Amino acid sequence: MSRFLNPAYSSLQAYVPGEQPRNMQQLIKINTNESPYPPAPGVAQAAAQAAQSLQLYNDPEAAALREALAQAYGVTAQNVCVGNGSDELLAFCFMAFCAKGAAFADITYGFYSVQTKLFGIPAQIIPLRDDFSLCVQDYASCEGAVFIANPNAPTGMALPLSDIEELLNQNRSRIVVVDEAYVDFGAQSAALLIGRYPNLVVMRTFSKSRNLAGGRLGFALADKALIDDLLLIKNSFHPYNVSALTQAAGLATLREEAYIKDCIAKVCGAREYTADALRQAGYTVLPSRANFLFAASPVMDGGELQKLLRQNNILVRWFGAPRTHRFVRISIGTLPQMQQVVKICTQSV
Ligand SMILES: *Cc1c(COP(=O)(O)O)cnc(C)c1O
Repeated sequence: MSRFLNPAYSSLQAYVPGEQPRNMQQLIKINTNESPYPPAPGVAQAAAQAAQSLQLYNDPEAAALREALAQAYGVTAQNVCVGNGSDELLAFCFMAFCAKGAAFADITYGFYSVQTKLFGIPAQIIPLRDDFSLCVQDYASCEGAVFIANPNAPTGMALPLSDIEELLNQNRSRIVVVDEAYVDFGAQSAALLIGRYPNLVVMRTFSKSRNLAGGRLGFALADKALIDDLLLIKNSFHPYNVSALTQAAGLATLREEAYIKDCIAKVCGAREYTADALRQAGYTVLPSRANFLFAASPVMDGGELQKLLRQNNILVRWFGAPRTHRFVRISIGTLPQMQQVVKICTQSV
């Protein structure tokens, strides 16, 4: 840290991404919740075509992409804002809607606490229950905007839509951001509530269920007034936030929903196989509606299990946090990859 750094940032603890090895040879990389399958057919060609016009700025309105997303989700383009990953849009939400602070769970996506600290926003941390479930009544008196990952990360556990509606109804003057990064893997989306709740923001990403993590594309769905707020921040920060290549890749992906659905179905199948096999071997496996499992060995700590898997060329994520140190987060790969994971995990008990 140099002596020139603004002291406001000197105590920041930045988000630590999972390892992204350069040499992928024989590694089973299931540590960052990516899809094990390639981008949709047509993505590479669409990006290559867009590359021919890279001397020009990209469309700052991302009009075609927003229109396609609006059609896919039964809203209008005025209900859609796109971002350089949903992490960027989450940052815009913290800037736009957290004048009275923010509230989120103690065990959830690590970026919420990183970003509140970056922006100097007071955060109210609401502990999950002992079984890692989230009880929406615990948020009834929260004044600040509520950030809910549904399904939650890294637990994978989902809330029913009725719980999201209860959060929205607790205080109609309070924003609820529902981060649906994993919703396509089996949870109920709040997207169909847009239009009924002017305090709802639904956050989505192409990184997990749409096989496009490296493209960096997220989108927010909300009432037009909230989208206008997000666009105000976006256009004050980075009007060209989604590159021409990524806009083209996103559009091409949306034309291939059947391929994407098929990839999602395969991931869900491999998830259920893995969860069943690990439970039979005595592991604790939380009920996951996401493309990962949060699992604890009956005989070793999460850190030890991560090491053992690493020795067998399998990368998983261990957070080492007080309440969850027994657990590792295992992203779901292909079925053959997961059979290898199960083999190592069950041999060790
Ligand atoms: C992965 C993830 C995101 C961020 O995804 P982007 O790649 O920035 O779109 C947001 N929220 C949760 C809960 C995630 O797991």
